Amino acid sequence: MNNVSITHFRNTVERILEPIFKTCYDNLIYTYGFTSSAMEIKLIPGRGFDSNVYLIMGEFPTIIDTGMGLNHNYILNEIKKHLNPQEVKQVVLTHEHIDHSRGVKKLLEDTGGNTSVFAHEYAAEKLEKEGNRVSEFFGVFMPNLNIERRLRDGDKVTMGDDEFIVIHTPGHTPGSICLYNEAEKILFSGDTVFSHGGFGRYDLRGGDPVMLLRSLEKLMLLDVRNLYPGHGEIVLGNGNEHIRLALHNLRLLI
Ligand SMILES: [Zn+2]
Repeated sequence: MNNVSITHFRNTVERILEPIFKTCYDNLIYTYGFTSSAMEIKLIPGRGFDSNVYLIMGEFPTIIDTGMGLNHNYILNEIKKHLNPQEVKQVVLTHEHIDHSRGVKKLLEDTGGNTSVFAHEYAAEKLEKEGNRVSEFFGVFMPNLNIERRLRDGDKVTMGDDEFIVIHTPGHTPGSICLYNEAEKILFSGDTVFSHGGFGRYDLRGGDPVMLLRSLEKLMLLDVRNLYPGHGEIVLGNGNEHIRLALHNLRLLI
């Protein structure tokens, strides 16, 4: 083979193998919570009805979402692999649903008294004032929570060692937020948008399809490389494409 055909052969082989490696790599990431970002983000994949739980390492160790508390020991053991739970500075909730927030109370018993809970002001209202009730979601008891910091659109939150901007994305719930880091092009998207064109249900109490559409349009203005959703697989590399597909799918439905 001459040089030209060797190069051609190599390119062809790489083109064939690349998606195979990518699939294996993505599965590895999903299964073991390993991510390629410079930021140290640990994924604790949601079990059963639980949301995904994320741990961001650094000066301000942060947990994003907590699951609904039924898999507390599993989540706690996963956290312990990376740090002493007492070091967790803050828990940020992407929205008010119990599959993301009911685990907070139990988790705080292990993280100690220095952990603050953050949520959007609309979510906070619900989690604080309407707590101690049987949730309409699964019909289970939902304890009252204290939300130390009420977030609004445009607020900045330091998680790990990096600054994230709060983006209010109502539609799935009134108090839904996404958290975006511009430098690394990372988006934590809660239940607003999932991988492969998925989006949060808008037919539950407080949901609104038109608001969800506006929220997805807002997210389309961002440059997103890595997408860390509230459920399912994470996306490394082409987050924008997954958001674009979600917007396309939602437009077909409403
Ligand atoms: Zn939800």
